[in-house]
Amino acid sequence: MHIYGPVPSRRLGYSLGVDILPSKTCSLDCIYCQLGHTDKKTVQRKKYFDVDSILSQIKNAIAAGHRIDYITFSGSGDPPLNVFIGKLIQEIKKNTSIPVAVLTNGTLLLHQSVRHALSNADLVVPSLDAATQEIFERVNRPHPSLKIRQVLEGLKNFRQEFCGKIWLEILFVKGMNDSPAHLKKLKKAVAEINPDKIQLNTVIRPPVEKSALALNYQELEKIREFFGTKAEIVAEFDKIRHRPESRDLKDAILAMVARRPVTLADMSKSLGKHKNELNKYCDILLMEGKIRIVIHEGKKFFKSQKQKNKRAMKDKK
Ligand code: SF4
Repeated sequence: MHIYGPVPSRRLGYSLGVDILPSKTCSLDCIYCQLGHTDKKTVQRKKYFDVDSILSQIKNAIAAGHRIDYITFSGSGDPPLNVFIGKLIQEIKKNTSIPVAVLTNGTLLLHQSVRHALSNADLVVPSLDAATQEIFERVNRPHPSLKIRQVLEGLKNFRQEFCGKIWLEILFVKGMNDSPAHLKKLKKAVAEINPDKIQLNTVIRPPVEKSALALNYQELEKIREFFGTKAEIVAEFDKIRHRPESRDLKDAILAMVARRPVTLADMSKSLGKHKNELNKYCDILLMEGKIRIVIHEGKKFFKSQKQKNKRAMKDKK
């Protein structure tokens, strides 16, 4: 299944997610990634899936008549790694007026072919967490061939060639890329890229590495002031609690974890929903304290919080 949602998103309204990569295919292995470790760290663009089957799933989702504010390429890695992304965007634009967004880590924009492939999108949201190679390697753990100098060059060239909107996202990890000296360098790099918006984020969702800690709202607010009027905070802190939610899906997840610990892949298989959609509801249940995460042999499992509480009560007696 390549489609998930439409899921409510603060930035994009109701977003129909399109996932065009096998999990998890990326040029980076960010310490804050919520999808786990990168299995296939690559910069090679490939033909991953059949274009017609992806397009027919998008058509069916639109025909279902739900509100869709954006058709958004995101998901199990960096979407431009799929060599067909340009063709997919072109075909979507032929068939609907719904705007198309691409969420990308931005590393492949150094290639003219990738910049060209994204040229028909309405909105591109690249990320940039580092202005130096040292911090790039510490936070994003890139493919060995990637140099931050070239990534920055790619972003600048894309800005000059692309007619749509660019919202540059920066994710801050406490003690990693938030020092005053690094902030100065990032600000300079961002000014040279000249995006339409600068979106500031932090580690809100459970990261792959425990060492990846979030900034608090006040710290992020100071950074927002430092970056100036184009900057906005997109980290959803406790706003995630107030998202519209599907009672049925939350109940179905709770029923599953009450029986046994499950991974996102297990849930996806048995509930017939995309992992990214389920991840959003797991985040809500985590924040509500109804489920918890346990790591076993490098895999992330979700467990019911009730079982732990019951055991604690027994121990007290
Ligand atoms: S770029 Fe995105 S998908 Fe890739 S490792 Fe970083 S956070 Fe995960």
